[in-house]
Amino acid sequence: MLPYIDIHTHQLQANENTFQLLNCIIGEEEFSNQICSVGIHPWYVHEDRDGQFGILKRHTADKNVLAIGECGLDKITDIAWQTQIEVFEKQILLAQELQKPLIIHCVRAYQEVFHILKEKQVTVPVIFHSFNKKLALAQSILQQGYYISLGSSILQGNQDDLIQSIDMDKVFLETDNKPTDVADIYSYFCRVRKISISDLQEQIVGNFEQVFRYNTFSG
Ligand SMILES: [Zn+2]
Repeated sequence: MLPYIDIHTHQLQANENTFQLLNCIIGEEEFSNQICSVGIHPWYVHEDRDGQFGILKRHTADKNVLAIGECGLDKITDIAWQTQIEVFEKQILLAQELQKPLIIHCVRAYQEVFHILKEKQVTVPVIFHSFNKKLALAQSILQQGYYISLGSSILQGNQDDLIQSIDMDKVFLETDNKPTDVADIYSYFCRVRKISISDLQEQIVGNFEQVFRYNTFSG
């Protein structure tokens, strides 16, 4: 039986048939030695930036670290804008060096994030996580070859047009920090897209294996 893949969560849920990619924010969340993503979140940049980056770098040597992030830019945090850019760029370079995907946190800074990704000539897969904006912005993300991960916000019904039109090889689903069961997010997506749960599971397993170069599911 194929699993439900949750590509971004801050707390593991006791759900047998769910495969979760735990996110660990350096300095805020404990590093676990299971499959995870690690990064410096723009809300939690420490005074000692070099020290914090050193810890991140040490962790990323672990083979269970499948991605760098969440990292990115956020216009509604108090962390200085220049500091955010500096820390984001360092993480982009690290992801490029390690050839691991980037999981992006982005709040009101899409154009700036696009610009930096282009400037740095990023070639690793880029996933905009917890995407809850309009179709036009999604299209601009997809046109640049990036991925979109949808979360519990889809349950509100405002993203049905995106669900109906998104390229299926560019989509992921996640719970982030919400108590929602990822299976409910799958069900909703399937209802709107008019596909079966098993087809969606198969698609997302394929996307996951390709983007994260992980092949435990198909053996
Ligand atoms: Zn998150």
